[in-house]
Amino acid sequence: MKYYSLNHNAPKVAFQEAVIQGLAQDKGLYFPEQIIPLSEAFFDSIEQRSNAEIAFEVIQQFVGDAIPNSVLKTIIEDTLCFDFPLVEVEQNIYALELYHGPTMAFKDVGARFMARCLAYFNKDKNDNKNTVLVATSGDTGGAVASGFLGVSGVEVVILYPSGKVSDIQERQLTTLGQNITALEVDGFFDDCQDMVKKAFLDEDLKHKNLTSANSINIARWLPQMFYFFFAYKALKKQNKPLVIACPSGNFGNICAGIMAKKLGLPIAHFVAATNVNDTVPRFLENGKYDPKPSIATISNAMDVGNPSNFIRIQELYANDLKAFENDFSAFAFTDEATQEAMKSIYKNNQYIAEPHGAVGYLGLKKVLKNSENSIGVFLETAHPIKFLDIVTPVLNIQLQVPKQIESVLNKEKVSIKISSYEDLKTFLINQN
Ligand SMILES: *Cc1c(COP(=O)(O)O)cnc(C)c1O
Repeated sequence: MKYYSLNHNAPKVAFQEAVIQGLAQDKGLYFPEQIIPLSEAFFDSIEQRSNAEIAFEVIQQFVGDAIPNSVLKTIIEDTLCFDFPLVEVEQNIYALELYHGPTMAFKDVGARFMARCLAYFNKDKNDNKNTVLVATSGDTGGAVASGFLGVSGVEVVILYPSGKVSDIQERQLTTLGQNITALEVDGFFDDCQDMVKKAFLDEDLKHKNLTSANSINIARWLPQMFYFFFAYKALKKQNKPLVIACPSGNFGNICAGIMAKKLGLPIAHFVAATNVNDTVPRFLENGKYDPKPSIATISNAMDVGNPSNFIRIQELYANDLKAFENDFSAFAFTDEATQEAMKSIYKNNQYIAEPHGAVGYLGLKKVLKNSENSIGVFLETAHPIKFLDIVTPVLNIQLQVPKQIESVLNKEKVSIKISSYEDLKTFLINQN
């Protein structure tokens, strides 16, 4: 399997190179040359298969011979070391809880998978280190820090917007030490992402072997396909059209869902639900892609003004606008609507949704209104404890602190403050 750049001005590469490079030389995102649907026999027997078996079938063609199948199976088993419960919230509406991993956000899966792939690629090298450079709007940083902690031959540098991530999120990415460094940026997530993109293209930093652990990296992005298969496995016997709503920021997760559909997974409709950072909902309304600077909201992991992965979704539907409109809706919701949804979900169903999940729920409700025969799933992308500062006052409840979170609460935050690209460059050049 080869990957091409969506800017069409760089050589095609195999999985290993695409993972190590992150972004193609022409600044384009990598995209697989082929997507071969899975067999009918696979879907017929999906309920008898373990999550790890399903994941292997789903991702093998994308890895190709870059990693031997036996190693890939081990990587997948290590990656999926926790559950993905599907919880019935109200009649015909389910939450797929993706937050039971080590950092309690759905990004654990992509981060753990990518870290293990890089560790495999580095196993025979002893001098030439890779540096993983990542911008975070909140959850990526913690997931990447935890996923890559102690991986030999890999230095991790995380950029996060100062004052715009929650206390727990900040602790998860600033307290681990070892091969993890946190840079606290005076700016927004988009500023962090721009700096990271610039660094990848900077000739002076070539020797650092920089790669990205954002969902622009195929090893972070593609494993997210697994969730959609897990949801289908759990709901298949109900035999109803399936609508899945993804709370969306950089649009990596929902794009992975659409990839899953291309592999043959019967999902009737996708809903991208955003906060007021509504570049994609506006695009669907007026056909203009007009990115704006990001606005801070209570669902901060989705405060993205220019979602990187939307171009991959456009590629998936390049020749078929009709199919796109059939398969895909997008809606934006304010913080007020999100808080109202959190309250009503709790009051009516005793389910605690954090702000991102609540945005997903709102998007789902919009579409289900017109298709009563369907089953809806919204992705719960983070544990409510990660958004304690919002969940506690809105729902007026005390949350129990899970053990994964307790372990970082008393650790000291360590970060380096930067305010410009030059600061980042100086830091990287002086890093040993
Ligand atoms: C990253 C994140 C999202 C958005 O996912 P994308 O793949 O960037 O669209 C939603 N919710 C939470 C909690 C996240 O951490």
